[in-house]
Amino acid sequence: MKSALITGITGQDGAYLANFLLEKDYNVYGIYRRLSTPNFWRLQNLEVFDKINLIPADLIDGSSMVEAVKISEPDEIYHLAAQSFVGASFEQPIGTGEITGLGTARILEAIRQIDPEMKFYQASTSELYGNGHSSSLSENSPFQPSSPYSAAKLYGYWLTKIYREGYNFFACNGILFNHESPLRGLEFVTRKISNAVAKISFGMEKELNLGNMDAKRDWGYAPEYVKSMWLMLQQKEPDDYVIATNESHTIREFVEKAFDVAGLDWQDYVKVDRRFKRPIDVNYLQGDYSKSKQKLGWEPKIKFNKLVEIMVKEDLSRWEKWQNGQIFPWDAPNYSNEANILTRALKA
Ligand code: NDP
Ligand code: GDP
Repeated sequence: MKSALITGITGQDGAYLANFLLEKDYNVYGIYRRLSTPNFWRLQNLEVFDKINLIPADLIDGSSMVEAVKISEPDEIYHLAAQSFVGASFEQPIGTGEITGLGTARILEAIRQIDPEMKFYQASTSELYGNGHSSSLSENSPFQPSSPYSAAKLYGYWLTKIYREGYNFFACNGILFNHESPLRGLEFVTRKISNAVAKISFGMEKELNLGNMDAKRDWGYAPEYVKSMWLMLQQKEPDDYVIATNESHTIREFVEKAFDVAGLDWQDYVKVDRRFKRPIDVNYLQGDYSKSKQKLGWEPKIKFNKLVEIMVKEDLSRWEKWQNGQIFPWDAPNYSNEANILTRALKA
């Protein structure tokens, strides 16, 4: 039986990947960090919580990462943990560098010291390309990070290549474009929209405040994307791959479709609020997954319209169940009311 260690197992991708690897009969380990309130709802939602092994560790603490690797002795390590939200990286650039950048160095060093044969997946991102592009982006397109998050991820990307070339690691960068699902965090724009549409349609909220609605993203479906992570580690040679849908849509299109799924007109509810605008935004991201199709045999099935429908229907169903008094693992009832959130953009 193969075993895998997932950092970030409590996040969107970690939960789906745990589920995927369990179905492939892996012994699955994951690290979780100490929080004042545990964050296991995604693992419970997918009914995998009782089937995995959890190890307490934090990317800030290198010794805990060494312990996690020693305890799990995995064949494969999927490094997904990060301060993963671009918006927060402008508020907390130093913490983002520590966790998202140096955290990657800590786990790579743990592997180098314990067993360099372990295969390593690095959660790289389309944010590496940053601003200034207007055509599809492939593995060969230039990077121009446009946020503290993407600068930290660029460090992780290069470190992964350096350990591959310098120490012969089987280490791969998955350059994943945005991928969403009903398990997406509420601060990301797609889930913020699907959750708001559901609340508005039940009369629990009156409006939705957003920032830059002109930005375009290439949005795919997270459960399909985690399969590509596994495929990368099953190849003969380690390499880097773009994972995308090859389509991009504006935030406004997402909003329009999401309200449409609930039978509402978005223009009656959506307002622009500068708190949600970023000091620099990435205006266009569209991938080109040709290499992944050819080498991994990977292709997305769920595209934009279906994705929006899945997310809105799931949030509608959750709020309906919640109003009927049902108890189930999810995040929205405890999420902070955004009216209280002050950001740097307010001072600008
Ligand atoms: P999430 O935000 O859902 O999950 C992030 C995970 O990282 C959580 O499990 C979180 O734990 C963990 N984490 C955060 N800080 C630490 C820390 N100091 N020590 C240990 N664990 C920590 O992200 P996703 O699942 O969406 O993304 C997975 C990875 O892929 C991330 O690295 C992200 O940057 C990258 N990525 C994501 C894309 C997307 O569209 N989703 C696109 C491209 C790349 P906790 O539950 O305790 O907060
Ligand atoms: P990102 O691509 O990783 O930054 O994912 P996000 O979902 O956080 O943001 C996607 C795009 O939506 C970015 O261009 C944001 O500027 C834009 N956006 C517009 N309004 C909002 C908002 O209210 N919240 C977030 N998170 N993003 C917003």
